[in-house]
Amino acid sequence: MILLLFGPPGSGKGTQSAKLVERQGFCQISTGDLLRSSIREGTTLGIKAKSYMDNGDLVPDEVVIGMVDGVLRQKLHAGISKFIFDGFPRTVEQARRLDGLLEQSGLKADEAVFIEISRSELVKRLTGRRVCSSCGAVYHVTTSPSKTDGICDKCGGNLIQRSDDQESVIKSRLDIYDSAALVLRRYYEGQGVARVIDGNSSVEDVYQRIISKNTLGP
Ligand code: AMP
Repeated sequence: MILLLFGPPGSGKGTQSAKLVERQGFCQISTGDLLRSSIREGTTLGIKAKSYMDNGDLVPDEVVIGMVDGVLRQKLHAGISKFIFDGFPRTVEQARRLDGLLEQSGLKADEAVFIEISRSELVKRLTGRRVCSSCGAVYHVTTSPSKTDGICDKCGGNLIQRSDDQESVIKSRLDIYDSAALVLRRYYEGQGVARVIDGNSSVEDVYQRIISKNTLGP
């Protein structure tokens, strides 16, 4: 089962993916998380990706596809075949290449779920988001603050604002998402697997909408 989860930055893709992992046993592949951990670890890939990410631009296809290829191979080798892709693909080239990678293992994208949400809500969520510089845990200054201001509840690391969550960068990230989502929706509509859901409600409501289709359960 392959689920592709699309949504603008701040739409809760990461939160929903975590729920799908916990409740449905999916294995999550989040290119944003993978890239951020490469940056934290100071790998060559991380160094290559950092300037694009700081500016809110997409990291070049070849870099991201190579990274996904490696991770997917590893997981398939370990016998995993239930995946949720979060933040990937972001271009038609990435979508085509993902199809190719899946096909090699007799898999295909079963569902492409697009979360839609108002821009004003997204800006509110993104500007208040704080992340732990050590473990990557995510907080929000008003809706889910840490117990001690600026300190991660889980590991005691410092909470920072992602450089791409600064207001000046957010608009460009949302514009990039909107134009990419339009073509990707068409691409997956062509395969008969696209589904659009309303993301303007609680985490649980959105989760129920994601899993409401027969193929996913509840
Ligand atoms: P995200 O956490 O998914 O919002 O991703 C954060 C940033 O990582 C994006 O703004 C891009 O710079 C980069 N990124 C993540 N996934 C991809 C991808 N599939 N293709 C290109 N860049 C990506």
